[in-house]
Amino acid sequence: MQMPLPDQRVLARRDEIIKALRQIVPGEGVIDAPHELRPYESDGLTAYRQPPMVVVLPETVEQVAAVLRYCKGQNIKVVPRGSGTSLSGGALPLADAVLLGMGRFKKILEIDYEDRLAVVQPGVTNLAITKAVEGEGFYYAPDPSSQIACSIGGNVAENSGGVHCLKYGLTTNNVLGVQLVTMEGEILRFGGKALEAPGLDLLGIIVGSEGLLGVVTEVTVRILPKPETAKALLIGFPSVEAAGQCVADTIAAGIIPAGMEMMDKPAIHAAEAFVQVGYPLDVEALLIVELDGPEAECSHLIQEVEAIARANQAGMIRISRDEAERLAFWAGRKAAFPAVGRISPDYYCMDGTIPRAKLPVVLRRMNALSEQYGLGVANVFHAGDGNLHPLILYDANKPGELERAEEFGADILRLCVEVGGVLTGEHGVGVEKRDLMPAMFSEGDLRQQQRLKCAFDPELLLNPGKVFPSLHRCAELGRMHVHRGAVPFPELPRF
Ligand SMILES: Cc1cc2nc3c(=O)[nH]c(=O)nc-3n(C[C@H](O)[C@H](O)[C@H](O)COP(=O)(O)OP(=O)(O)OC[C@H]3O[C@@H](n4cnc5c(N)ncnc54)[C@H](O)[C@@H]3O)c2cc1C
Repeated sequence: MQMPLPDQRVLARRDEIIKALRQIVPGEGVIDAPHELRPYESDGLTAYRQPPMVVVLPETVEQVAAVLRYCKGQNIKVVPRGSGTSLSGGALPLADAVLLGMGRFKKILEIDYEDRLAVVQPGVTNLAITKAVEGEGFYYAPDPSSQIACSIGGNVAENSGGVHCLKYGLTTNNVLGVQLVTMEGEILRFGGKALEAPGLDLLGIIVGSEGLLGVVTEVTVRILPKPETAKALLIGFPSVEAAGQCVADTIAAGIIPAGMEMMDKPAIHAAEAFVQVGYPLDVEALLIVELDGPEAECSHLIQEVEAIARANQAGMIRISRDEAERLAFWAGRKAAFPAVGRISPDYYCMDGTIPRAKLPVVLRRMNALSEQYGLGVANVFHAGDGNLHPLILYDANKPGELERAEEFGADILRLCVEVGGVLTGEHGVGVEKRDLMPAMFSEGDLRQQQRLKCAFDPELLLNPGKVFPSLHRCAELGRMHVHRGAVPFPELPRF
């Protein structure tokens, strides 16, 4: 993995830089001792590690702005970090960069039940938002499996999803506004409390921008009233093809479940051994389907889904009898990643999205790749929206296995693109998928995307080495091409 080369001039001034940062963030907000930098050396993609030059933990928006302004003035790179659970290496530090941790921004600033929104600081965990409003019968819908730890700022940066996003949308559909500090230290607002904002939809650019455009310092999210009823079905199938067809038929019937998740045999066995919630062990694929809404609607939809499942060879069907059982059905799926961690020394979690109908063919080819690379794979996925999470099993202590796992993963993502899908569903590009971007985007596409980056951060100081396989200097991208003495669009005024 090639990262931007450390700037030796910056490293030579490390002591002076730390001193200046301590003046901006006094107290314990600057960490520079080597053993204290260790916890920050990687995020959820632990295959890559690099201690940062220094960690800064600001507490106020003014401190964030001052740190960024100082770093811009001194040509110092900055890597924003929330809780460090990214699975794509988005928060991977650089040797010559400031790691800007947003963990001290932990306040819920406002809850407005009438307008159904909450204004929170970016370090608040995803689950803490629901915890803060559940007493009044509300919740925050996007629910990444990491919700107990991941921050809402990280969710905004990655446009994170979860099992309930099929019906309720991803982070982008549940964020009304953000406050963002640019590399220049300018404090900007995008969107707000109203459902529509004037002008261009720049909020849509910020959500999913992976810490490349600015640092999010406040987030306004929608909160929703909890549905009257929610029931989950566990449905076992003799093949992944049959389960995949059941998913396609359910959506084609006009039913949008609150969640629709699939696990294959290795994942089912790992999850059951971990949480013991009674998952069937004699099936090839398991669907967990949640239906919610008014009681009558819910009962009607359960009957419809049952009929569709039976028509697709479903063997066992269990319907949750109470809330405890519904949560138990989900517990295995939500713990699938750590569960797989118990059956393999290491695993590499992929994240690609495909058109739902391509599920059987992609799974068949993935099994062939598994044999070709000699590495096992367990599959859990958001089946309703075609978002796959193959977990490649490997042992980092065996020479060459990490590299083989990475190549296997890259082939899976290329396969997703080949069948009409995309490189990422919800984990972002980060460093993990950076070098695969040309499999999906032309050079022209990538240049256009980078022009956007240049508009926010022309010196390319914010989170460099992520998302773009190669960075052109912004001046190059802005260069005007003059052909035979004729400038393009001569009628436009030049500045
Ligand atoms: C066990 C496990 C399960 C997971 N399950 C899911 C899942 O179901 N769905 C899902 O979508 N993801 C999942 N993830 C991935 C991860 O939790 C999400 O990507 C999450 O949104 C990252 O949040 P974070 O606070 O940990 O961000 P970090 O990992 O700290 O950072 C992620 C990215 O956001 C940027 N960033 C962080 N904070 C800010 C900020 N305030 N301003 C600007 N940029 C910022 C960073 O620079 C980085 O690029 C899972 C991870 C794990 C370990």
